[in-house]
Amino acid sequence: MTAPRGRGAPPSPHTLKCPSCGAPNLYNGQGKMQACSYCGAEIAVPPQMWPPPVAPTFTPIPQAKPWLGLLGCAMMIVMALLVIIATIVLSNLSQ
Ligand SMILES: [Zn+2]
Repeated sequence: MTAPRGRGAPPSPHTLKCPSCGAPNLYNGQGKMQACSYCGAEIAVPPQMWPPPVAPTFTPIPQAKPWLGLLGCAMMIVMALLVIIATIVLSNLSQ
C-alpha cells in the first residue's frame, strides 16, 4: 500500500504571507497592497497576482482639434520672438 505523500498543502497562489507576523492572508483580488487580517501590516501583492488592468473605455468626441488653435498661437509667439530677437541683434550690430 502506498499512502499519498505530501500532506502539506502547497501555498495557494492567492495567499499572501504577511511579512510582519507570517500569517497567510487570502488575497481579496483588489489593489497592490493589502492589510494583514491578523496584525494589520501592509502586505505588498506580487505583480503576478495583481488584477488585470481595466481596459480604458474611449468615447471619441467629434469636435474641432483644439491643438490646432494652440499650434497657431505657438507659431505666432515664435514668430514674434524671432522678430524681437532679430531686431535686438540688428540694433546691436549697427552700434
Ligand atoms: Zn500580519
